[in-house]
Amino acid sequence: MKERILILGAGYAGSVVANILARTFRNKIARDELEVTVLDKNDININQGGFTFIPFELYTPEDITRPRNKLMSPRVKAFYGDDGEVTALDLRNKEITVKSNKKYGYDYLVIALGCKADISSIPGLANDLNTFYTSIEDAFKVRDLIKNIKGGKVVVSVASMPIPCPGAPVKFTFMLESYLRNVKKVMDDVQLTLLWPQEPIGPSEFNKLVTGELKEKNIEIIRNFQLASVDADKKEVISKNGEKVNYDLLITVPPHKAPEVLIKSGLTDEKGWISADKATLQYRGPAGNYDNVYAIGDLGPVDILKTGIGAHYQAIAVSQNLINDIYGNNIKTPYEGETGCPIVTELETPSTQGRGYIATWKYGVPPAPFTTTKMGWFLYRMYYHIHWDISVKGLF
Ligand SMILES: Cc1cc2nc3c(=O)[nH]c(=O)nc-3n(C[C@H](O)[C@H](O)[C@H](O)COP(=O)(O)OP(=O)(O)OC[C@H]3O[C@@H](n4cnc5c(N)ncnc54)[C@H](O)[C@@H]3O)c2cc1C
Repeated sequence: MKERILILGAGYAGSVVANILARTFRNKIARDELEVTVLDKNDININQGGFTFIPFELYTPEDITRPRNKLMSPRVKAFYGDDGEVTALDLRNKEITVKSNKKYGYDYLVIALGCKADISSIPGLANDLNTFYTSIEDAFKVRDLIKNIKGGKVVVSVASMPIPCPGAPVKFTFMLESYLRNVKKVMDDVQLTLLWPQEPIGPSEFNKLVTGELKEKNIEIIRNFQLASVDADKKEVISKNGEKVNYDLLITVPPHKAPEVLIKSGLTDEKGWISADKATLQYRGPAGNYDNVYAIGDLGPVDILKTGIGAHYQAIAVSQNLINDIYGNNIKTPYEGETGCPIVTELETPSTQGRGYIATWKYGVPPAPFTTTKMGWFLYRMYYHIHWDISVKGLF
């Protein structure tokens, strides 16, 4: 009988799994012994990592988007739009429903639906929402706002954790400082503040580097500031501890949560995220334990860092486990927590060299001491082009 692998979400993680499986099982697919199907609500893949750079005009929308059909192997059955937008998951009956009311069955399921900004959870935030985290359009709005900064108090607020790529707000803040100092030349009249919801900023060595750079650049940092509300009239943000900070311009990274359809289908834990085994990524949650269901990427357990690098490694481990499952190898390839966080501390400008680094780590192996370099800046900038033809296609 034909074996069916169904992948929900053709974003970063879902595309990598689909492409690896389509390559590995090309002969089985040709003989009609196996099918790989992918569903997504739309047909354009966005590299969200590029949102951080749009305000500084370092990438264009064309650089950070691709039609999904240019990325997905033709051996994969793909349904986008109403036939691909998941509206209900029934793990017990192995049945997925989409917006058009079509239903899909499976033998193996990969849930890779990412996560979503949750703006309405912060009272007042919608009244003064400037964010580069949610879309290309929103990132352009931030570009226009920062172009017009002439002075005053600029606050970058990270509302709460977890968020995708917790390093992105930090590198945005460093790039903003560099832009205001070296390009706009108004930094002497600006007070730049980063409101951070936790004590450390990432693992120990990451925190050490960032703390030193914040100090050197005279950027104020207020730690443990979890955003409770925004008063747009008073231009004031208030923390859960009642601390108040005024601003002239507020740029916010909103709280995030798993997609509504997963919450509605009863698959999320008390923290609102999908529960999975941290090593095998098999579903272990309120809906039961399912060895044939894998959950990967940004929707995963709260204690697995939500990064594209992590999603990529999870996709590789899950693809290998699906290959093991199909061949009945009885082997499990663990996800070892491989993840990373690219950091930029300086923009390339007429008076400065760009500086960056891609810090990586895994479970139990924190990042080693590092510094940002010109080479790191180039590698990270280059990565955005490699992303489409190497990473998303699952070629490494
Ligand atoms: C501003 C920003 C900067 C970042 N910078 C970096 C970085 O520098 N380095 C890094 O490693 N990571 C970075 N990330 C994180 C990275 O983008 C994510 O970790 C990665 O995209 C997660 O992949 P995913 O497959 O889990 O989710 P996604 O890539 O978001 O894919 C989820 C897919 O599910 C689809 N979907 C959602 N709901 C439904 C539904 N109901 N039905 C059907 N389809 C649906 C979506 O359309 C999407 O295609 C950044 C993220 C942001 C927001």
